[in-house]
Amino acid sequence: MKALLLENIHDEAVRTLRAAGYEVERHSGALSEADLIDALDGVDLLGVRSRTVVTPNVVAARGQSLLAVGAFCIGTNQLALSDLASAGVAAFNAPYSNTRSVVELVMGEIIALARRLGDRNTQMHHGVWRKSAIGSHEIRGRSLGIIGYGNIGSQLSVLAEAMGMRVWYYDIADKLPLGNARRCDSLEELLQTVETVSVHVDGRPENTGMIGAHEFSLMRPRALFLNLSRGQVVDVAALADNLRTGHLAGAGIDVFPTEPRSGEEPFLSELRELDNVILTPHVGGSTQEAQIDIGRYVAGKLIDYAENASTGMSVNLPEIASVPTTGARISHLHHNVPGIMANLNRLVADHGGNVTYQALATRGELGYAVLDIGDTDRELLRDVSGLEGTIRARVL
Ligand code: NAD
Repeated sequence: MKALLLENIHDEAVRTLRAAGYEVERHSGALSEADLIDALDGVDLLGVRSRTVVTPNVVAARGQSLLAVGAFCIGTNQLALSDLASAGVAAFNAPYSNTRSVVELVMGEIIALARRLGDRNTQMHHGVWRKSAIGSHEIRGRSLGIIGYGNIGSQLSVLAEAMGMRVWYYDIADKLPLGNARRCDSLEELLQTVETVSVHVDGRPENTGMIGAHEFSLMRPRALFLNLSRGQVVDVAALADNLRTGHLAGAGIDVFPTEPRSGEEPFLSELRELDNVILTPHVGGSTQEAQIDIGRYVAGKLIDYAENASTGMSVNLPEIASVPTTGARISHLHHNVPGIMANLNRLVADHGGNVTYQALATRGELGYAVLDIGDTDRELLRDVSGLEGTIRARVL
């Protein structure tokens, strides 16, 4: 099988694919629609980052021969996901490879804010020597409130405790506390309890503006506030007001409601003028280690799909986790219509196949079945592919 990797995807992905026996072709840049269609001739697996757009036209031209697409990044807006699904092409991304990177930056910023390092550093660069302990604190023993106890929030909980902080968290889902962390029953309770608040919720629409004037007013005087999750979650004008009045002692902000699309555009924000505010250009997850992990993880997902038919963590197909094969494996992506599984099983039985493993998952209008059978023949694949409602069938 052949993989095409674009946009300087990390060497780790190339190593992983080649070690599994795949031929790998690389391009350093992104490709236009027409060039991508040309380049996909004879390609089974495609790897992109954020700049190559896999359009409906690309899928119409190459979807039949393409097996899977890997977005070697977090976002998948550049992929025509439903077109890919309708063509039977699985898509994967790496949503959690940079968790640790974000957590380390949060810890660094909590210390930097507690010691007013941003201001001290700027003063020194302007030749100002302001040696003072006023407003500087250790983080040991101080309280941290984590809003959103998911992958990042829960890992932050562990590292913050290791540094001696006392951790509270609030999540809309029922999450088990790690270490000595304490659960809050409401956002209000958390905001009123802690000295430092860090937001780690996901980008669901209901979270837009969830931290505004009312929420800031509930925070303790001189609290520190961090948002390295999504820009739209925080009302920036309300945050700036609370920093100006001194109700908040400082903030660390990595994400913004509107972010420059490239380094050519200026960063405009009223937060730029304020003291003890650390501003970073959405780099919470941007480390070499995260890039290596993304390369390894997404390449692994592509291989697992090609070899075991696993769609675990796919962003567009029904998910069936990786299970070792117990015989010849049939994967069958189909329209989720009544009777299709009965027809599939009948067909296998008609071919004398004894099913040793079977899994079915559905996602909207799609169904995905994986069957292991003791013995199979090429005719079975032909018949399975011809079954009414089939989008794509493979025998592995
Ligand atoms: P996750 O999905 O694992 O966790 C999100 C948690 O927030 C879940 O437990 C969910 O139940 C909870 N939640 C959602 N809405 C909530 C609400 N209103 N109140 C309380 N809890 C709520 O996500 P993650 O991987 O931990 O990522 C967290 C955030 O960080 C995401 O928004 C992600 O996009 C962002 N992120 C930013 C960077 C960066 O570079 N700054 C990098 C990676 C991730």
